[in-house]
Amino acid sequence: MALAYDDTNIFARILRGEIPCDKVAENDHALAFRDIRPQAPVHVLVIPKGAYVSFDDFAANASNAEILGFTRLCAQVCMSEGVDLAGGNQGFRAVANTGHHGVQEVPHYHLHIMGGRVMGPMLS
Ligand code: C5P
Repeated sequence: MALAYDDTNIFARILRGEIPCDKVAENDHALAFRDIRPQAPVHVLVIPKGAYVSFDDFAANASNAEILGFTRLCAQVCMSEGVDLAGGNQGFRAVANTGHHGVQEVPHYHLHIMGGRVMGPMLS
């Protein structure tokens, strides 16, 4: 079942062009932009253009085209930011904070792509 989506969230406003973002890349189904509070030299958020609250909402309810478009944009970002293993780089961390226990702040699905340093263990 699709989750109730609040279209006043900040990422919905970015998608509507009401708030600026530092865009990295875009395709028909997804947008990538730099996190305003970067936790690593590379810290990009990739969001679907569709109204999905969380990773599980997106995974369960997005169309194949949306999932493919989102995933390909993630790959494009990893390559352009120089963190992809396939390009001979050192890798990255991809995180989808989800819901209350995942400490998700913005209720529009987003994947954090973080790299450019060793990220360290996930302890907390
Ligand atoms: O915890 P969650 O994964 O929901 O974190 C949301 C992220 O969105 C934070 O890292 C925050 O810095 C980022 N953000 C942003 N631009 C905004 C608002 C939040 O990059 N305008």
